[in-house]
Amino acid sequence: MDNDILKVLYSKEQLHEFNVKLAAELKRDYAGKYPLMVCILKGAVLFMTDLVRELDEYVELDFMDVSSYGGGTESSGDVKILKDLDTSVKGRDVIIVEDIVDTGATLVALMKLFETRQANSVKVCSLLDKPSRREEEVQVDYVGVTVPNEFVVGYGLDYAEKYRNLPYIGVLKPEIYSK
Ligand code: 5GP
Ligand code: MG
Ligand code: MG
Repeated sequence: MDNDILKVLYSKEQLHEFNVKLAAELKRDYAGKYPLMVCILKGAVLFMTDLVRELDEYVELDFMDVSSYGGGTESSGDVKILKDLDTSVKGRDVIIVEDIVDTGATLVALMKLFETRQANSVKVCSLLDKPSRREEEVQVDYVGVTVPNEFVVGYGLDYAEKYRNLPYIGVLKPEIYSK
């Protein structure tokens, strides 16, 4: 897998630092609360499981699978619920945990959904933010790091379902896309 990577953007150590920083922010803002952390599958799985280990607070975890991307690198624009939550969000303080906010389409749809379901509050915690590609106006409350306009893989993020298990985040060699 390493051979397919053109360059590493964020090492394992840097990702750990982002998690420590974000956990401290969440601890400060959710002290005494019992937030429902909603991991957006599959991309945010590695991020959320590492993040909560840095968070010495009571939290509830749940998972949701939505789809806006096919196998390629461009957004199709619409968002479908593939797996819904097990937990009711009514009256809860929800933290949406995302791998990356790109166009913002996924988040806008989720914010609307959780408001309709009467969450007490909804905030967004994303490891990566790619504001250069934003099409929807969304507030990302907690950001690990802002990334350049490149398609990134690793640490949960895939290309055609591969590379999610890389322990770092990087950019693929161009020839991988033409295979
Ligand atoms: P949106 O465009 O709705 O903000 O992003 C939807 C999803 O597309 C993200 O949660 C992520 O799973 C995927 N995505 C967006 N940008 C990238 C990227 O650079 N690399 C990878 N692997 N996935 C991305
Ligand atoms: Mg995602
Ligand atoms: Mg994907």
